[in-house]
Amino acid sequence: MQATSLRKTGRFQRQKPTGPVERTPANLNELYRLLEADAFIALPIRPQGAGTAATDCNSSETGTNIKTSGLDTIVNIDSYNHTVTAQAGVRLEVLVIALAEHGLELIGSYDLQGRTVGGAIAAPCFGPCIGNNGGYFSSHVVAMKVVMPDGRLMKIEARQENLLSAFRMSFGALGIICEATIRVRPIRTFSASHRRVTIDKFSTVVDALANGEIGLKFYLMPYRDRVYLDLRRYDSEPGNAYRAPWKLKDWGESTVLPHVFKSLNRIVPIPTVRYRLIDSISEATQGLVNSRLVNNGSNAASQSNHHRNAGARGCNYSTWCFPAANFSMIVKAYRDFCATTLAATNYRCDLPAVGYRLCQDASALLSPSYDEPMIALTTASTQIRGWDDFVIDLAEFAEQWAGTPIISQSRAARATHAQQTYTNRLDFFRRMRQQLDPENRLLSPFLAQYCR
Ligand SMILES: Cc1cc2nc3c(=O)[nH]c(=O)nc-3n(C[C@H](O)[C@H](O)[C@H](O)COP(=O)(O)OP(=O)(O)OC[C@H]3O[C@@H](n4cnc5c(N)ncnc54)[C@H](O)[C@@H]3O)c2cc1C
Repeated sequence: MQATSLRKTGRFQRQKPTGPVERTPANLNELYRLLEADAFIALPIRPQGAGTAATDCNSSETGTNIKTSGLDTIVNIDSYNHTVTAQAGVRLEVLVIALAEHGLELIGSYDLQGRTVGGAIAAPCFGPCIGNNGGYFSSHVVAMKVVMPDGRLMKIEARQENLLSAFRMSFGALGIICEATIRVRPIRTFSASHRRVTIDKFSTVVDALANGEIGLKFYLMPYRDRVYLDLRRYDSEPGNAYRAPWKLKDWGESTVLPHVFKSLNRIVPIPTVRYRLIDSISEATQGLVNSRLVNNGSNAASQSNHHRNAGARGCNYSTWCFPAANFSMIVKAYRDFCATTLAATNYRCDLPAVGYRLCQDASALLSPSYDEPMIALTTASTQIRGWDDFVIDLAEFAEQWAGTPIISQSRAARATHAQQTYTNRLDFFRRMRQQLDPENRLLSPFLAQYCR
């Protein structure tokens, strides 16, 4: 009461909460003005798309977060040359629908449709890619417009392959991508087949799957010793691809499961009972929704997972990439790691881990599969208590098995390990960053660990 009246005198003021300043430019001119050298703006500046990265790469505690959501125009769909030009804040789901109206689709299937074009270029964005031709969204970018750290506009064209390669997966450390032209193609259907196998069985076939041309996505349930495989191929006449079953599958996986698990975590106090229930529901979902519902699709129909704001849903994740050649051993070691961690800490993830085959792809300087095919393994959980310690153990496990960290997705990745993995490619990236941003306007403390 007394404190309230003191404040009313005007002599005492409540401390304003500190934190990043948020700016959402409504158009390109506003974006240029924000970055101009004499603009009054708190540093460092961090571009932010949908904000779905798992690490602090898309925000800064003290500087300015520039949200690209206002830059949401699809500039041109070229049905003749099969390209689309879109601003950075366009959501992938919007792009996919607009392309489908022209009979076109993205080359590659990308989950998490809430993410933005800019975020999908500036960070590794992958999904169950069929074939060995460009596994990342950014691999298909043929031109870009970038606002440089000093506010100048730079245009990068298809023939400037080295520059394109540096700006793909550049985590907003070299400049802010404001527009991109992306190669697309006419809609093509694929068949999707599903298998349920044990982890031992999976380990005997994963090598062949990873080295083939099959689109591979799998759901790994280490505590049930189960792997659910989603295998995609361009077969002869696979039939029509309808959107509705994929939407239903997506709803089951990305909305129903996390919500049900969060409720169970609250209302079922005995862990053994709770996890038995959770695993049974996961298995039932895989068996019913995934295996029975979707038998064929297209990249236009199958794009899924509307995680607009994963943080708000309380779904935590961390992704590491492992050499596909060793994954037959790694998957068994991962099962053991999960069991030992549960025994030692009482913590386990409630959602299945999700894996993808990444083909060898050197189109970006910081591509995680630059030298060889990899398997990206995303460990996810709605359980917040214990998660931070778990990801540290997971990072240790990943390092032991030659895991490649992704700056935007691998929680608790050590900078020294990133250096050992990316070696001279990271050195080159750092030198380039220093040249393009000598005043470190885009360098947050988080990014500085890796890119200073
Ligand atoms: C539950 C969950 C599961 C996930 N699973 C997958 C998965 O299976 N496969 C996958 O590929 N990804 C996955 N992700 C990761 C995430 O969706 C990708 O990293 C995505 O590409 C980020 O897009 P965004 O728009 O959210 O970008 P943000 O998270 O906002 O930003 C990512 C990075 O890009 C930079 N950036 C953003 N916009 C620009 C711009 N215009 N110019 C320059 N730099 C920019 C940011 O500064 C940051 O460094 C998952 C995320 C969640 C929440």
